[in-house]
Amino acid sequence: MPAGASGRHTLCGVSIDTSPRNAPLPLLVLGQGRDLHSERGVECPGDLPAPSDPDLVARARAAKEALGDRVFVLGHHYQRDEVIEFADVTGDSFKLAQQAAARPQAPWIVFCGVHFMAESADILTHDDQTVVLPDLAAGCSMADMATSAQVDDCWDDLVEAGVDGLTIPVSYMNSSAAIKAFTGRHGGTICTSSNAATALEWAFGRTGGVGGSGKVLFLPDQHLGRNTAVRELGLSLDDCVVYDPHRPGGGLTPEQLRAARMILWRGHCSVHGRFTVDAVQTARREIPGVKVIVHPECRYEVCELADEIGSTEQIIAKVGAAPAGTSWVVGTELNLVKRLASKFPEQSIAFLEKNVCYCSTMNRIDLPHLVWTLESLVEGQVVNPIRVDPEVAHWAKVALDQMLALPGRTHKV
Ligand code: SF4
Repeated sequence: MPAGASGRHTLCGVSIDTSPRNAPLPLLVLGQGRDLHSERGVECPGDLPAPSDPDLVARARAAKEALGDRVFVLGHHYQRDEVIEFADVTGDSFKLAQQAAARPQAPWIVFCGVHFMAESADILTHDDQTVVLPDLAAGCSMADMATSAQVDDCWDDLVEAGVDGLTIPVSYMNSSAAIKAFTGRHGGTICTSSNAATALEWAFGRTGGVGGSGKVLFLPDQHLGRNTAVRELGLSLDDCVVYDPHRPGGGLTPEQLRAARMILWRGHCSVHGRFTVDAVQTARREIPGVKVIVHPECRYEVCELADEIGSTEQIIAKVGAAPAGTSWVVGTELNLVKRLASKFPEQSIAFLEKNVCYCSTMNRIDLPHLVWTLESLVEGQVVNPIRVDPEVAHWAKVALDQMLALPGRTHKV
């Protein structure tokens, strides 16, 4: 739809109001500040329907109907309700990538999530399928905290310290395809928040076991790495060091690298990293009998105080299985907590921290972006395709396949 068009326009049988009140908005143009090494910041050309357009729901419905089996819409648990309503399947990032791969008949996969998720879906789907991200500015700040060049420098530091042969990289799913490829090239594995312990056991097992002298380089979420190593594998906090990519040598001496068992990348989730000990203590004071459940991307001291820790899928399952009348405070993304509260009204479900808001990049995917994406597909135009470089995709898939081959695979997908 050309910018500045006015009057009415018909698509998929829906009459679209393009009068000045509902005139399309220009998409956020990021081309000027583009950073091709960033998860985000690439150009997003086109026009969006106005958020005030009362026909948005009807337009999305009509476009989806017109596309039929040719489109498969994936909705991450942290997406807004208005987007989730149009998802063919909801889940965490790994489940969604698997679901996409299981639908070879759909040439277009619309991924309502963030950039690294769409990359993983592109890697796992067939070559003739195209993964589309409705807004290219939907990146992940955690994934952006580990760039390929930084991680290569880190490996050089490990070589210099003489410990590269003892170190296996384990990278969280929430990382760019380039970091997954680094992991595959260096004989490591990907993990999710629900199989991180299995992945660490496997990695340590390759270098003498958890009690041996091997090391894991854990990317990019220091909190998931620390929580898993200390709380689940029994390593001590002193076994962990934090590699800061913004300091020479990661801010560590070769001796510190040699002594460490877990080399944690200095990255974190901008949402989960903000939950505090104070919020847990306040909830316990104010809500008698409350159960605190948090995601393992939360800080170690917050996890220590929680009653339950679980991945997104595990939080949903735990809360869903609790008896009526249970009181919860939940430390994960707000959209999901609100959805849990409306899905289980017989329980009392509250958000853990009043100073934490939605994941801002996840929330970039909204109904106008989804409508724009679907209507463009109806018109034969594929917008915002996510295509991973074949060499990067190859090595990233090596690391993803290693995750699938983990012994006693435990991720709940
Ligand atoms: S919730 Fe955290 S890890 Fe997930 S996309 Fe947002 S910033 Fe990234």
